[in-house]
Amino acid sequence: MKRRHQQKPSVIIIGTGFGGIGIAIQLKLAGYSDIVLLEKASRVGGTWRDNTYPGAACDVQSHLYSYSFEPKHDWSRKFGAQPEIQAYMEHCVNKYELASHIHFNQAVAEASFNSKTNQWTVKTESGGTFSAQVLITATGQLNRPAIPDFPGLKSYKGTLFHSARWDHDYDLAGKRVAVIGTGASAIQFVPAIVTKVSRLDLYQRSAAWVLPKPDRKFSGTEQSLFQKMPFWDRLYRSMIYIKNETRALAFTRFNKILDYFSQQAIKEAQTHVADPEKRKNIVPDYQFGCKRILISNDWYPAINQPHLDLITDRISEIDETGVITEDGKHREADAIIFATGFRASEFLSPLKIYGRDGSSLNDVWAGGAKAFKGITVSGFPNLFMIYGPNTNLVHNSILYMLESQFRYVVSALDALAKYPGAAMDVREDRQTRYCQVVQKGLEGSLWDTGCTSWYMNAQGQNTANWPGFTFSYRFATRSVDTADYIFTDPDVSN
Ligand code: NAP
Repeated sequence: MKRRHQQKPSVIIIGTGFGGIGIAIQLKLAGYSDIVLLEKASRVGGTWRDNTYPGAACDVQSHLYSYSFEPKHDWSRKFGAQPEIQAYMEHCVNKYELASHIHFNQAVAEASFNSKTNQWTVKTESGGTFSAQVLITATGQLNRPAIPDFPGLKSYKGTLFHSARWDHDYDLAGKRVAVIGTGASAIQFVPAIVTKVSRLDLYQRSAAWVLPKPDRKFSGTEQSLFQKMPFWDRLYRSMIYIKNETRALAFTRFNKILDYFSQQAIKEAQTHVADPEKRKNIVPDYQFGCKRILISNDWYPAINQPHLDLITDRISEIDETGVITEDGKHREADAIIFATGFRASEFLSPLKIYGRDGSSLNDVWAGGAKAFKGITVSGFPNLFMIYGPNTNLVHNSILYMLESQFRYVVSALDALAKYPGAAMDVREDRQTRYCQVVQKGLEGSLWDTGCTSWYMNAQGQNTANWPGFTFSYRFATRSVDTADYIFTDPDVSN
């Protein structure tokens, strides 16, 4: 292809969470102006807008769980709570003047690529149509709540909601509440509600490994030091990064280190939980690290509450008034809260995305989601994904991975700008080779040691996690190699 006069492509970004806001800022800073952000809700924030349950907070330190290019020196505590994170994101939108680019209440229904024009056309559920040369998805991996289809669920007459759609109008005080699930969300909200309710039935399918959370407030002096000495703020951030990154060693090479932490978790349970039956059941029977390791200082004390019943019998049915377990026991509940996670392996679903020749991304991914560097998919030119397949982490801040993707995508669009009107499509052989290397890296990993987790898809393949160090991902995505792509002009042959 011949180079022509440079022209920066137009861009549609789907989602205004950390991924969408971050890539929009980076594109603006790089001189891109024709940017449209489509947001299904009426507010920015993604998962931090949706998860407003009591006690919602981040389990990654805030200095690292924020953009490197937009430091916030006055985090109120080490691990920021949801309102502070949401406010930070809104601050970013204001500071970088993104509001005029965002179209709210535009849930994307489908996007299709037209190879005659090399344009993406996006249709939204509310009837909107948007076109641009480049489509960037930033819809996150955890945005579709999963509610198991228990027999009789529809017959339940009480109040029912998912942790990511918290019903703040419902007063839990004095109520008999059933909580289903004991993952990252439950361990945050159960301690926050347990003292309000009259009874809490906690339905646990598998226990979680839980370690103490080294959280505390920052003093005014610390905050002003971060403010006045930005170097110290950056150094502090780097120290957190290095500390977290060393955990990758434990996950990938020196699994024995994890035994120390599992002993610590068991000791915590023994210290805080008095009832021997509860104490036995609250400790997992699977490999430490197989699913996300959780941190909390109030989980075990909450489990210890006499009016909290830890139920490990499987749920067989839900009826009008409560939950029935396989042992035939019926427990009444005024409210059922589902803390049952998200439909994570159905990447980008229910969006319908049609690439070159009308092929559907859902069909292409029927055997499991895969993408070159977690960002591009062969047959879907000019489509870039933020937080795509195999880019999730368990040991460090996902923001670091997102920023690697921002840099890669901006460099790809800069390459595209040199060939106005062109489409770039990742070479299939490069994508296949890349995905093989990632899957090889995941072989024999801790995540594949027999527990259930959202990291594994229906085929038993880990399509969520990145298998190594985050700096090796950053190196792999440092800038686009145009040799990995085929550039084509619009197909005007017929
Ligand atoms: P989750 O970790 O996937 O946990 C879901 C829970 O529901 C598990 O205990 C699971 O049991 C249970 N469950 C699912 N289906 C069930 C069924 N049919 N019957 C009984 N129990 C069932 O979901 P989550 O707690 O919402 O967290 C999801 C992810 O969100 C986390 O992994 C994390 O990445 C993110 N998150 C992050 C933070 C943060 O601080 N950064 C906070 C909250 C969430 P099994 O374990 O047996 O499958």
